[in-house]
Amino acid sequence: MSEKSMKALFVNPPVYDFSAFDLWSKPYGFLFIIDLFIKNGWDVFFFDFMDREHKFYEKNRKDRKFGCGNYYFKIVDKPHIYKDVPRRYKRFGLPDEFFIEFIEKIGRVDFIFLTCGMTYWYPGVEEVINLCRKFMNVPIVLGGAYATFCPEHAKNTGADIIFEGGDIEEFVIQFNNSFGQRFFLPENLEPHWDVYDKISYLVVRTSKGCPFSCYYCGVKKIEKKYLLRNIDHVVREINWNVRKFNIRDIAFYDDALLCNFENHLEKILNDVNKTVGTLNYHTPNGIHPRYINKYSAEFLKQSGFRTIRLSVESLDRKRQKESDFKVNFLDFENAMKNLVDAGYSKEEIGVYILAGLPEQTIENVIDTIKILKQFPCKIKVAEYSPIPGTRDYEIARKLYPFLPIEEPLFQNNSIFPIWNFKDKWEKIDYMKQIARE
Ligand code: SF4
Repeated sequence: MSEKSMKALFVNPPVYDFSAFDLWSKPYGFLFIIDLFIKNGWDVFFFDFMDREHKFYEKNRKDRKFGCGNYYFKIVDKPHIYKDVPRRYKRFGLPDEFFIEFIEKIGRVDFIFLTCGMTYWYPGVEEVINLCRKFMNVPIVLGGAYATFCPEHAKNTGADIIFEGGDIEEFVIQFNNSFGQRFFLPENLEPHWDVYDKISYLVVRTSKGCPFSCYYCGVKKIEKKYLLRNIDHVVREINWNVRKFNIRDIAFYDDALLCNFENHLEKILNDVNKTVGTLNYHTPNGIHPRYINKYSAEFLKQSGFRTIRLSVESLDRKRQKESDFKVNFLDFENAMKNLVDAGYSKEEIGVYILAGLPEQTIENVIDTIKILKQFPCKIKVAEYSPIPGTRDYEIARKLYPFLPIEEPLFQNNSIFPIWNFKDKWEKIDYMKQIARE
């Protein structure tokens, strides 16, 4: 069989969780792998269970602002490990019948590739693998966060190869070695958005990795080094897809978007805005207050940033050390002043704080919330998830040996896995209510 006729199916599985919302959520890294296969001459098929532009949503669509919206879901039985969680457990995403219809139409492929964005979403992976096995017995390769952080556990899903990390060069080596292929790594890989017929927003990374090393974060296992992407490549990627899909909203997935701002993001957006006009930009991953000075705040406002999310995590000194001192109170105060002076309102500024860390008390979180409430911002409580391989995960294992944190389902942030105190859920609801009020 010649390489030209090789076929690969790429699948983004459904999500099993207590909550899920399309907040500019796309399998961005997966789209680069797809581009790798296309540039190596393969025929590629793609099915995204989380695609809200699918025809199914013509009757089931609930949109919010800036291209975001609700996923279709079904309530499903809770796994035993969640028996005490007073929340409904759901399967989010397209019903299986659409996937079955799709694989019947495309026929047999040579390989199947799956991704999975969270360790505790693996039931979706198992579901897709079981479905695929009914139709064809071909090698299945699993990558993404679940495969990276829980590779041993992932072997039980039935996947043939578990690919850890986000390094495409390593992926090529492993794929070639495992399956006797002769893939080459093209010079400019880009996310292959053409696998979608329609999208309502674009997501972009102008850099890889992160320059910080927070105790609770697993980014270094996915991208070891912090690297800025080539400016021309990023500009071309944005301009091309904005025109092709008639997009007005772009969410940045960068972990340190404003780092090296004047030599990178500023240049990119000046170029983009000149070519395709001003767009709406969003920062769902949070930006670091220390980089928001008067100049960058004004630039953000004028260039079209509509959703500003600041990563504060905690104002407690011990916690700041765990966040690699990426923010302190003075940085935050200055950032807020500069954003307000630049014209941002409370509705546009959200501040992330982390809750549920090892040794963190709920009272400590509430104290941080109360301080932040004095500022014109919305407080967003981000729940801590113990990610295998991180420093906080090891601390949690030692401190709470009775908790089953090795089980990926137990790593679900929605259950505040580390917190284990009397009246836990009443207190958590109270904390969330104070943050919202
Ligand atoms: S700044 Fe964000 S992405 Fe970077 S290490 Fe800390 S938590 Fe992770």
